[in-house]
Amino acid sequence: MALSKAQLEKFEKQLLEWRKELDEGLNETIQSMHQEEQNAFPDPTDQATVEADRNFDLRIRDRERKLIKKIDQALNRIKEGTFGICEHCGGNISVKRLQARPVTTLCIDCKTAQEIEERTRVD
Ligand SMILES: [Zn+2]
Repeated sequence: MALSKAQLEKFEKQLLEWRKELDEGLNETIQSMHQEEQNAFPDPTDQATVEADRNFDLRIRDRERKLIKKIDQALNRIKEGTFGICEHCGGNISVKRLQARPVTTLCIDCKTAQEIEERTRVD
């Protein structure tokens, strides 16, 4: 069962809105980092807290950037007509799964198999 045009349009809208929200969030984080840099930290405890906060911010930003990339890829797949198709087995990804995670590129079977493989892999 392939996705209807109306369903694709809904996913596209959802992805674009999500992307916009993330973009705005990233700008805010960058702005607050600039503000922090202008402040002085006489107390080393404060400094450590700020450093920890900043590392946390950076990790979130890194995750957000990756997510934005995934959203862009999903939007591309909508344009190319491959959205909702599992990139591993070529089967259809269920609409329910896409609604929960529209950036996914794997059907539930392939995703489960991949997770099992990742858990058992020894690095
Ligand atoms: Zn699959």
